[in-house]
Amino acid sequence: MFELLKEQPKDKILALVQTFREDKRPGKIDLGVGVYKDAEGRTPIMRAVKKAEQLWWNAEETKAYVGLAGDPAFSDAMIDLVLGDAVPRDNVAAVATPGGTGAVRQAFELIQMANPNARVFVSDPTWPNHLSILKHLGMEVVLYRYFDSESGSVDFNGMLEDLGGMRPGDVALLHGCCHNPTGANLTMPEWDAVIALLNDKGAVPMIDIAYQGFGEGLEADAAGTRAVVKGCPEVLIAASCSKNFGIYRERTGILMAVHHDAARKALTQANLAHLNRQNYSFPPDHGARLVTLVLGDATLRADWEAELEAVRQGMLDLRTQLASELQRLSGSDRFGFVAQHRGMFSRLGLSPEKVEELRRDHAIYMIGDSRINIAGLNAQTVPILAKAIVEVGA
Ligand code: PMP
Repeated sequence: MFELLKEQPKDKILALVQTFREDKRPGKIDLGVGVYKDAEGRTPIMRAVKKAEQLWWNAEETKAYVGLAGDPAFSDAMIDLVLGDAVPRDNVAAVATPGGTGAVRQAFELIQMANPNARVFVSDPTWPNHLSILKHLGMEVVLYRYFDSESGSVDFNGMLEDLGGMRPGDVALLHGCCHNPTGANLTMPEWDAVIALLNDKGAVPMIDIAYQGFGEGLEADAAGTRAVVKGCPEVLIAASCSKNFGIYRERTGILMAVHHDAARKALTQANLAHLNRQNYSFPPDHGARLVTLVLGDATLRADWEAELEAVRQGMLDLRTQLASELQRLSGSDRFGFVAQHRGMFSRLGLSPEKVEELRRDHAIYMIGDSRINIAGLNAQTVPILAKAIVEVGA
């Protein structure tokens, strides 16, 4: 049987991690994989999370299963964090999932169960895993224009034009904040225009929010999602706790389905629980428990928010430093968008050849589409990167 298996395409980002590890050059710089790193290159366990783990180690009395949807307290805490008071709790069905990826996967499957003819419109570019999961499920994908690589900003007219081709029941996948891989995000008036268009077309928004707190702040990063939830009758939201709680390997995420008609919620909730049952039964509990403890305790929450804010500010400082260093060395404003982008990533708009030259001649690793992880830099390596970019003549 096993000889019948086919080779699968390698995940480019994970392959790059391997090449980086094998590179013996001192001073090599990893701007590849999307994991937050501090100035020393570490991915720390956040203080409040560590404290919650200590508390939970003492308090936990059983490892028995929780429930198919996970602990309702986790859903309550996350719905509050992401949606605030945009919608009453009674209108939201939710299940805990293994990471944001699990939530994305369950959302796509739910769409497929509800409407096998739905097409999913995704931004060009998007997180590659969106595309590969949709392909794996055999779902129809339509790309919509999103990024203008000349200006480094959102091609909003192109986006609206392409979303204008949606049919009733189609789904528009939107990044809640900190767009991956480009770093370019919608303004609030742009969110409002997208909401009006989707309603006009009878299309359903699905929001992937994996970096709340990494862009403009916890509340501001959720503003687009909240506007959609207020403005559209049905919304799917896949949220990840991997980045903003720094609990990547704990696999913690949540899928929410918002209904303006609360009477419809019970059916969706049952379908979400059914999907969990079919795919992995009970979602992981440990990370979800830590998140619930942190969000539910005023002291822990304040400390978590402060640490997250420092992380966010640190990335903003690196953005400003990189943009001004590039300006100084190149004498042009071409890379000014780096300071405007938000979140962990920016797409620099370099050709694949230049990206390869940076790796070969300068030991600087970025994704082939020239996405860099800002958190892979520190105040000392920013000038090295800027110099190398100018040297390769990008
Ligand atoms: N969505 C996007 C856009 C992401 O960048 C990520 C993380 N790479 C995720 C979802 C999910 O991450 P995880 O499964 O690790 O929570």
